Amino acid sequence: MIIPTNSRLPGFYKHSVDERLALVQGIAELTEDDLLSLRQAAGFDCDSADRMVENAIGVFPLPLGIAANFRINGEDILLPMAVEEPSVLAAASNAANLLRDGDGILTTSTEPIMIGQIQVLDFGDLTETRRRLEARAEALVAKANSVNTRLTDRGGGARALIVREFPETAVGPMIVLHLEVNVCDAMGANIINTMVEAIAPDVEAITEGRVRLRILSNLADKRLVRAQGRVPVARLARGDWSGEEVARGIVEASVMADVDPYRAATHNKGAMNGVDAFLVAAGQDWRAVEAGCHAYAARDGRYRSLSRWGIDGDTLVGTIEIPMQVGVVGGITKTHSVVKVVHKILGYPSAARLGEIAAASGLAQNLAAIMALATDGIQRGHMGMHARNIASEAGARPEEVAAVVAELKKVRDYSSVAAASALLKVRGAA
Ligand code: NAD
Repeated sequence: MIIPTNSRLPGFYKHSVDERLALVQGIAELTEDDLLSLRQAAGFDCDSADRMVENAIGVFPLPLGIAANFRINGEDILLPMAVEEPSVLAAASNAANLLRDGDGILTTSTEPIMIGQIQVLDFGDLTETRRRLEARAEALVAKANSVNTRLTDRGGGARALIVREFPETAVGPMIVLHLEVNVCDAMGANIINTMVEAIAPDVEAITEGRVRLRILSNLADKRLVRAQGRVPVARLARGDWSGEEVARGIVEASVMADVDPYRAATHNKGAMNGVDAFLVAAGQDWRAVEAGCHAYAARDGRYRSLSRWGIDGDTLVGTIEIPMQVGVVGGITKTHSVVKVVHKILGYPSAARLGEIAAASGLAQNLAAIMALATDGIQRGHMGMHARNIASEAGARPEEVAAVVAELKKVRDYSSVAAASALLKVRGAA
């Protein structure tokens, strides 16, 4: 396994793409084929797309970048992100640098337990049906395991069957069974779905009812990751703001996201910028993780923040806890040429480590967003990053973009009108 010894890449953003690629190549020992995959997605063509989805007509590229400065559980890591939004990579790298001074991000995860659901309707007496199901739970778990013995060989497999009751619903009394399965290093959706479909006929026989849905739940609240980071308050000082003022602003932002769902949605979107950009790069089903995180955020009946920030003495402390359904086997992890290189850059992590990196990425991104909000506001930094897109939209040729961006920064106006006049000025000067 290749583990980079130092993710501090000062001035990484100032390098050309080629220089950055050479740096990453040196650290992650990438081959020429790996470089081709990163540069032009070599190995991922229309045929690959056609094998992966239905009705394929092409492939869809996204920028891939490296967030610098991440240290997770004492190990430095180059954190790949695939995302179309400007400032996500810069923000993550910036916050990871601050968190580094607090000794990096510490992460933990629970066992990789996923939940499969079986819906039962039209059974007889509810109490008697529950008793019968509970009496046969062990046999049903054994039957589920018989369909994937490779999983039990690895120490995973179905662990428990839980009976949940909904006595009054619009379609009558309902039982929802939960099959809890340790899916090891897989995301687990197909594993779970195969198991619940396999035991459904037995459930129907035991309950003398009707089984309808048999599918995993994306509210993977038994498969949680937690990331915690600390920043010395003094390190938060910027511009006219003291470290204490910035720290207080971050805590106040955190509390607003806890009490107000309108803010919580945006607060969590910021965190998910970090989670999703990493998950896309790592070839994960980010929609599954998104669904799980937002459902988890509403677990006590009100939608809340996924992270918490507080002050402990002279240190700002932040924690994020999220359900994480990710895998390093299955899905596209071994078939997508760019995803394969991303896993190599990551040092071929386990599914648990991959999930923990996603949470760390979310925590850093969240810190960067609320730190900006608590000080300059978000637009100053963001529009600065977005300026290159605005210049291109105004018609600037690649060789003119830098000069147009410089003009926009000078006038601090990032409108299309300002971009058009900046372009005229640049061309006039030329
Ligand atoms: P998968 O179908 O490829 O199954 C994983 C297989 O890998 C299993 O057969 C398992 O036995 C084997 N395996 C080998 N080494 C393993 C290890 N170390 N640990 C665990 N298993 C190992 O993948 P999956 O993870 O079951 O399903 C993921 C796919 O399902 C994703 O593409 C996802 O998008 C999709 N999916 C998602 C949903 C949803 O989220 N609602 C629903 C259906 C399908």
